[in-house]
Amino acid sequence: KLYNQVQDLKGSIRVYCRVRPFLSERSSYVSTVEHIEDGNITISTPSKYGKGCKPFTFNKVFGQSVTQAEVFSDMQPLIRSVLDGYNVCIFAYGQTGSGKTYTMVGPKDLTEKNQGVNYRALGDLFVLAERRKDTFRYDVAVQMIEIYNEQVRDLLVIDGSNKRLEIHNSSQTGLNVPDASLMPVSSTSDVIDLMNLGQRNRAVGATALNDRSSRSHSCLTVHVQGKDLTSGTFLRGCMHLVDLAGSERVNKSEVTGDRLKEAQHINKSLSALGDVIASLAQKNTHVPYRNSKLTQLLQDSLGGQAKTLMFVHISPEPDALAETISTLKFAERVA
Ligand code: ADP
Ligand code: MG
Repeated sequence: KLYNQVQDLKGSIRVYCRVRPFLSERSSYVSTVEHIEDGNITISTPSKYGKGCKPFTFNKVFGQSVTQAEVFSDMQPLIRSVLDGYNVCIFAYGQTGSGKTYTMVGPKDLTEKNQGVNYRALGDLFVLAERRKDTFRYDVAVQMIEIYNEQVRDLLVIDGSNKRLEIHNSSQTGLNVPDASLMPVSSTSDVIDLMNLGQRNRAVGATALNDRSSRSHSCLTVHVQGKDLTSGTFLRGCMHLVDLAGSERVNKSEVTGDRLKEAQHINKSLSALGDVIASLAQKNTHVPYRNSKLTQLLQDSLGGQAKTLMFVHISPEPDALAETISTLKFAERVA
């Protein structure tokens, strides 16, 4: 309750930053992260960028030793507000390899301890719904879609069918992609099964050198309907958990054909997302939702009473510095 009031006073957009640890084979590098304290992060820059230290400020910064459980506990109040009827969007932004999927899903060798936000969020909703069962009855259902080259695809299909789906904003049903599979879930094991199916479908057509998952946005949407058992009224909340395509800029002189087209689509949709969040943060009257499929999809969960968390990820290696700076600038713009 108190958290929601504080949120309303401060605006409903929060920006977090997470630094992933060095991956073992690169442990001899010196980190570009100079210092982290509360919401402040300082990046050390060599002469090319004007030697010195660049400071950035966000709502929260998580250093490389912060655990999945610690990250989640900071997001918990936001996730819980879905049960009170709020719409929530959580985005993982960053260059490929910076830890977006680690935060949202977890590593390849998934255990209960290293599970990411998606599993924890649903687990938490079930626990809380159970705790409220004398006053509310909740139904939870999920959809999982992918946006690749500005086309929407269902990730929860059994036969891997590649049907293109349309977005229809409907505040009536809350289903903006009505033709995507909507799966009721009531336990953590239901969620694990669906997430596995979704991840498998996301990998279809991908090879080691051509990992499509880094060039598409995937969105797990959790729809919650609650019936107030005393008044008989209903409330509805929904949460979008979005693992964005890699934000790295490709060199136009080095890529052509399909790869260039993909890069242009990604670039366009990430800029559109940045523009929408920045204009909400500045309380502009015109918010440019129509410029990408991603922002169209999330239109009624961005702005208004909805709560947004932009979670940006950076890699500590010196060779990632240019992307690190560009990620932090993107984040600063929407903060
Ligand atoms: P992205 O989705 O942004 O491309 P990944 O989540 O796949 O990046 O992360 C790249 C690699 O780094 C993976 O092997 C992942 O398990 C590892 N990794 C990322 N973040 C962390 C972290 N906080 N702690 C431990 N390993 C991490
Ligand atoms: Mg990923």
